[in-house]
Amino acid sequence: MDNANPQKILGHCPLCHAAYATSEIRQLGEKGPTRLFHCTCTDCGHAVLAVIMETSGNISSVGLVTDLEIQDALRFAELPAVSSDECIAAHRVLEQDSCAWCARLLDKKA
Ligand SMILES: [Zn+2]
Repeated sequence: MDNANPQKILGHCPLCHAAYATSEIRQLGEKGPTRLFHCTCTDCGHAVLAVIMETSGNISSVGLVTDLEIQDALRFAELPAVSSDECIAAHRVLEQDSCAWCARLLDKKA
């Protein structure tokens, strides 16, 4: 695959529009025509996870603002995906035990 230059596609921070430094665009992974990048803006300090997909000469990209720093993004990129069972279990905990959870959080702050 003839990879498109990520600097051209991910050239600017979507939040403050400052140009990304080349060194702040890091590729986290690649699967088929899809590549995952982490971009850190040196002007405003925000970070974005961006997916670039290139098929038949067409390029599309999607960005997501994240609070993951590059070290965290690299670590999470190697972990297995969250399963649907884990999502359902988290939803149940939040729905059924949210009062107890909040009480515990408030106790810790007190
Ligand atoms: Zn920025």
